[in-house]
Amino acid sequence: MRPGARGTLWWRALAWVALATVFTATHWPNLQLDLPMRGSDKVLHAVAFMMLALVWWPTGFIRSVPLFALAAAAWSILDEALQALPIVHRHAGVEDAVANLCGILIATLVIIAMRQDPRAPGHAVRALSWRMVIDRPQAWMACAASSALGAMAGGVILVTAQSMLRQPIKPMHSALIGATLGIAVALHATIVVLMRSMEARVRAQRCCTTCGAPGVHGPACAGCGALVPEATWITPISRSLGGVPDRHWVRVGLVPVGIAGVVLVMIMGASIALSIRRDPVLQPYLGPEVDPGMRLVLDAVALAVAASVGLWWSRRAAQRIRARESFECLACGHDLRGAQRESGVGCCSECAEPFRADPVGAARQEG
Ligand SMILES: [Zn+2]
Ligand SMILES: [Zn+2]
Repeated sequence: MRPGARGTLWWRALAWVALATVFTATHWPNLQLDLPMRGSDKVLHAVAFMMLALVWWPTGFIRSVPLFALAAAAWSILDEALQALPIVHRHAGVEDAVANLCGILIATLVIIAMRQDPRAPGHAVRALSWRMVIDRPQAWMACAASSALGAMAGGVILVTAQSMLRQPIKPMHSALIGATLGIAVALHATIVVLMRSMEARVRAQRCCTTCGAPGVHGPACAGCGALVPEATWITPISRSLGGVPDRHWVRVGLVPVGIAGVVLVMIMGASIALSIRRDPVLQPYLGPEVDPGMRLVLDAVALAVAASVGLWWSRRAAQRIRARESFECLACGHDLRGAQRESGVGCCSECAEPFRADPVGAARQEG
């Protein structure tokens, strides 16, 4: 079995369960939620559809991000429209549909942000490690356990924190936000740990990046015949800054954060300008009378947009720096044009940092 095949099946099962759960919740006849504040259900809508999109993306049924976003948006609108059916005794609302779309927009931005550059060093090893991680039931159990703990811890922390405020927010609201943040932090930490140990194993055993069979020595895998270039085994210099050394922190770190800040200020300015104009169509979303739940959803969208613009900028800067990998040592800046190369890999004569002689070609071969 190819690495990732079993994991994808489990992932698809999870996606269908999530879809059934959200559909049941949105179509439960006459569901009355005892919500602590006006508009809290908008937050629930956004969170539910964001999670749904994030769970469905890795199933691989749709591989193009724009198509996936369109399909998810269409589903969310259909889900809301079906609530207008008399038998379910629910009501379909434009604002609920907008909240659903906001959730999907945030999920799409997260998906774009998480996408890996196939030309980045170590991408083939990372991709194989991911497929091998999701194949292991222990990894799923570790993620489930850490999510549960993260949700509890995040919920308790935020409920406690808000009770100390001078104007406390509603406990259920902060529990929901705290649990969501707690799950995100715990899952991220767990996946980072799982991926690190798996990557170390893949490198130590020199696993074929196509079929996962260990013990690849030479230009091709003995099992499946796939090309495995020597450059596959180069360890990326830095994981923290998009695969470029820390000395580029201004271009790859500071400038993108500034850009994200500028975008956030522009969005805030635009929303203030629009709320002053008091356009009747925009009244439910802008201005002082907006219900607090909807405002929270829109704020989350603004933050997600600003963060993803910053991330996009940072990745583009890192790509440009890495494009010079075969001319200039990424670690010390030494000129590599005269350096020795052997089967697509060389070493800097100044600092001994390994480099890929033909990063684009290496990425093409790595797949
Ligand atoms: Zn192979
Ligand atoms: Zn060097």
